[in-house]
Amino acid sequence: MSEQILIAEDDTNIAELVKIILEAKGYSTVWAKDGREALKIAEDSIPDLILLDVMMPKLNGYEVLKLLKENEGLQHIPVIFLTVKGETDSKVVGLRMGGHDYITKPFDLDELIARVEAALRIKDEHDHLREVNQRLSELSMTDPLTSLYNRRYLMERFHEEVERAKRYKYPLACIMLDIDDFKRINDTYGHLQGDQILQQIATIMKNSNRVVDIIARYGGEEFLLILPQTDLGGAVVVGERINKLVADTRFIRNEPDQVITLSLGASAYSSDDEGNKEDLLKMADDALLEAKRQGKNRLVSALGKK
Ligand code: GH3
Ligand code: MG
Ligand code: MG
Ligand code: MG
Repeated sequence: MSEQILIAEDDTNIAELVKIILEAKGYSTVWAKDGREALKIAEDSIPDLILLDVMMPKLNGYEVLKLLKENEGLQHIPVIFLTVKGETDSKVVGLRMGGHDYITKPFDLDELIARVEAALRIKDEHDHLREVNQRLSELSMTDPLTSLYNRRYLMERFHEEVERAKRYKYPLACIMLDIDDFKRINDTYGHLQGDQILQQIATIMKNSNRVVDIIARYGGEEFLLILPQTDLGGAVVVGERINKLVADTRFIRNEPDQVITLSLGASAYSSDDEGNKEDLLKMADDALLEAKRQGKNRLVSALGKK
């Protein structure tokens, strides 16, 4: 698909000329005759480049650029100002505000094309870099085996959720889960089978939780769930549900009797608790140890102390 260029220019003759030149070069164009229309079209069609006249009715070019820069979906579109020859001030202002380039009117046609091509080339590189960055940031926060959040990211989010819970006086719960006798499963069926079980349990948790819940792989066969706006009763319900789903799943083909079980520790602070919410993880961990001590395959809960 050809790149689309928005021409925001109130002078019909200039707009028409630019349109003809750009379309002859294979670009598709769309025309806005004032600043407000330019913004509307930018929002609707997300062009690859905007040629922006400075002096326009309704909103001038600077005002349009300012609004574009404030909009997360539009701020990356390069803008080339169309300024009138001799207006040095307007060139400087436009560039300082984040305009990519400027062209003075009346313009040289080859120069117009060259500047458009250069802007689009840079945009292409920026788009690619943004994609790579996005991918890297996803990789840095996820566990490669299960695609759940990793422990590093979880701890960041945990502190944020604690702050949010304090500020808005929300309850906050967490559940620590550990697969029972997983070493034996690995020893019996092999590590590849073990890996598959970890993935399946991750999927079960993802499918059975709310979008706002944060699910992470905390260690080898340990998972941690942070449940915002959830009290201990709610956490117990969530934990028991996951426990039952796992217990009801036949993970190993040809071995229908081989059940995988979990031990779970749940902890929570109610909305009016003043206690140190950072203790939640320790409380859930202690509860998990208690579940192991009591014979595994169960959930033990601990309430936050004041
Ligand atoms: P418990 O019921 O007390 O939790 O016993 P357990 O055997 O589950 O616990 P232990 O801590 O003794 O062993 C954990 C096992 O988890 C040992 C390790 O090989 C396995 N494990 C950890 N990470 C992975 C992984 O990424 N893949 C596989 N297949 N196994 C893993
Ligand atoms: Mg004008
Ligand atoms: Mg463990
Ligand atoms: Mg274990």
